[in-house]
Amino acid sequence: MERFYNAINRFDAYLLLHRLQQAGIAAHVFNEHMHSIVGDVPPDVAQPQVWLERARDRPRAETVLETLRVERLKTGSVRCTNCSEDNPANFELCWKCGQSL
Ligand SMILES: [Zn+2]
Repeated sequence: MERFYNAINRFDAYLLLHRLQQAGIAAHVFNEHMHSIVGDVPPDVAQPQVWLERARDRPRAETVLETLRVERLKTGSVRCTNCSEDNPANFELCWKCGQSL
């Protein structure tokens, strides 16, 4: 077993866990109930962590994590500089006024 990722929260940890499992990588989430003590201990101790069962899966797990990061960037939102409307980050033109984003 080895620690792979410190999650922002429980949701973040499980999202990655499910992606790893889909890729056939055995992994576990630890610390998911420790969030209430954040502030009393160093953050990396209290945050949910994703651990890999086999160290040799790490390169593949890194790929899964990178894919997830890219998807998140794309699913954010972009504010139109012309009309201030929020658009999904994968849009190239503002849905409201047609301005290039
Ligand atoms: Zn616009």
